[in-house]
Amino acid sequence: MAHRIHHLNCATLCPQGARLINGKGGLFAKSILSCHCLLIESNEGLILIDTGFSVEDMQSTGRMGLLIAKAMNPVMDVEQTALYQIEKLGFSRNDVKHIVLTHLDPDHAGGIVDFPHAKIHVHEKEYSAGTEPCTLVEKYRYRSQMWQHNPDWQLHRVTGERWFGFDSVHVLNNRLQDLLLVPLHGHSRGHCGVAVATTEGWVLHCGDAYFHQSEMDLDKPRCTPGLSLTQMIDESSRADRLHNQQQLRSLKRDNPDITLFCSHDHGEFETCSACPPIYLKHV
Ligand SMILES: [Zn+2]
Repeated sequence: MAHRIHHLNCATLCPQGARLINGKGGLFAKSILSCHCLLIESNEGLILIDTGFSVEDMQSTGRMGLLIAKAMNPVMDVEQTALYQIEKLGFSRNDVKHIVLTHLDPDHAGGIVDFPHAKIHVHEKEYSAGTEPCTLVEKYRYRSQMWQHNPDWQLHRVTGERWFGFDSVHVLNNRLQDLLLVPLHGHSRGHCGVAVATTEGWVLHCGDAYFHQSEMDLDKPRCTPGLSLTQMIDESSRADRLHNQQQLRSLKRDNPDITLFCSHDHGEFETCSACPPIYLKHV
């Protein structure tokens, strides 16, 4: 049976200043940023890559906190949650057996509480940053309420595997060769991309390694001022973040058949969603 991969937008963030953030629209208009997630059907059950916010988060800003709610201005719409969309596809929350997180920021990890039977895969450095925050940025960005339910964590570290010149680690060991965690540290201490082998070639979910598709422009990489500032405020290491962006552009230049996208560029999400369905390469 072919195993379909779905592109889901599991939250929409609308900070003020569309022109400064999206690069178009009014100066004071609301911008649109998606939370691009993947849902993978597999022999290992459903696998979710990033979650967006939880159902509870869409009913009250209590868990995400007022500061984050004000800065991100999320659309409070329960129908955008991963759980709602997964049930609409005919599955149940218990079908989700694995969640792979690019990092632990609330807009990426808030939804893990909706899937109590899932193993939560994350890089060990990101787990440390989230559970034992060291810097001021780490103390304000993570919300320990989001893992108060004591999830079933599975921590990963790289052990020498390589993927197109990047470090990598198989998320499900030998059970599923098509799914790799690709460390892209810099946005946060243990931030990673997630690579998936599909019938249409490799897909790399770059998480927050970049924010705007123009940053991956091979001739003239650039970013809007609003998203440049956002990335600088959040970064754990500017040198690593910029180095990774350079490496991602090289990957794109040398391998035009690899599809790259990030979490928050809504245009990239729309492009991916409009493409014909894709499936896991191996069954
Ligand atoms: Zn993000």
